[in-house]
Amino acid sequence: MTDATPEHDPDAAAQLDPSAPLHLETRAIRAGRDDNDTALAPTLWASTTFVTPTVEDGRRMATDVGEPRFYGRYGNPTVNAFEAAIADLEGAESARAFASGMGAVSAVILGLCSSGDHIVAQRQIYSGTQLLLQAVCPRFGIDVTFVDCTEPGAFAAAVRPGKTVLVVAETPANPQLDLVDLAELGSIAGPMTVVDSTFATPLGQRPLEHGVDLVLHSATKALAGHNDASLGVVAGSDELVRWLWGFAVLQGANASPFDAMNGLRGLRTLGVRFERQSSTALRLAEAIEGHPAVSQVRYPGLPSHPQHELARRQMDQFGGLIALDLAGGLEAGCRFVEGTSIAQLATSLGGPETLVTHPASTTHVSLTPEELAAACISPGSIRVSVGLEHPDDVIADIIGSLDALSD
Ligand SMILES: *Cc1c(COP(=O)(O)O)cnc(C)c1O
Repeated sequence: MTDATPEHDPDAAAQLDPSAPLHLETRAIRAGRDDNDTALAPTLWASTTFVTPTVEDGRRMATDVGEPRFYGRYGNPTVNAFEAAIADLEGAESARAFASGMGAVSAVILGLCSSGDHIVAQRQIYSGTQLLLQAVCPRFGIDVTFVDCTEPGAFAAAVRPGKTVLVVAETPANPQLDLVDLAELGSIAGPMTVVDSTFATPLGQRPLEHGVDLVLHSATKALAGHNDASLGVVAGSDELVRWLWGFAVLQGANASPFDAMNGLRGLRTLGVRFERQSSTALRLAEAIEGHPAVSQVRYPGLPSHPQHELARRQMDQFGGLIALDLAGGLEAGCRFVEGTSIAQLATSLGGPETLVTHPASTTHVSLTPEELAAACISPGSIRVSVGLEHPDDVIADIIGSLDALSD
């Protein structure tokens, strides 16, 4: 044996250094256990209220951020454990969980902005977030400017000094998996910056490392990962999370302990799930790129993605979502989603089952062709959320349904 054998590889030896920081996959398993006694599985604290030992304790508990044993809307041991785990994975001081991803989005936007303030947001963004910015913010006197997130410097150029309070970004973004340059976003001086990192999970990217102020997730998706928890979460500095908590206690969109328990359960396997979804998605994207029924495939891990270099710079793994356009438009889209059998037609993403969506015939069916185009959705746009089935089965199913389009 020579020094070149794996056992003697100095890089491998360095990775086995017992004092090296633990990998994210390991931390996802170990985090959020402080309050778990000797139980290995997450413990469910269903109680909405707790006995207060003394008047003095009560006074303190009513004002302590996230006090776990006072009243459910303020904090809960199971929910706090989920929050602690997310803070650990994102490299944040603190986190606050919500009843849904939109609970988190609305707390950030309405909790941080006031009448007269200005927000810069990207055009390519989750439809719920877009509606909140477009329809709700104006009612509260909050002005919003939408920019193209792929245009270098677009966010900073739209900032109005002294007026812009918040910059709202999402990457990889709905619906076409456009990316935001996190380092550029993190370097914007003045307003607070927030990234919806749902598609990437902390295993794919960690926006706070780039100087972004807040990261949020719809944990309903890959973090909980089993389609059985409605959950959102925001992570950032103690100061910002304390401020958000003050709003969240009044907003009342606090996470349910049951969903937080499922969220924690999901985190334990996030490492293997996300790696599997990312590797199957890359194989699938490569397999269907160039298929005659497909006019375009968008996946950050494909060299043909317009921002592939950026993806390689800021992402460790590219995730399980693929966007594709069918050459046959609306009719092909309907036939394609009805023609798959492993991949099922359902909204949501990040779970064990491969899912397909066809926005033009489902979520966005009421939009005119012009409105569809403005939302970057073409009549043949399909989104695939790659699941955990055997990659060969997923790829064969999708290709089979594509092949059938030309019959
Ligand atoms: C699903 C989703 C949301 C909203 O999350 P809910 O848990 O459904 O409220 C927000 N952002 C992104 C990117 C999402 O995919």
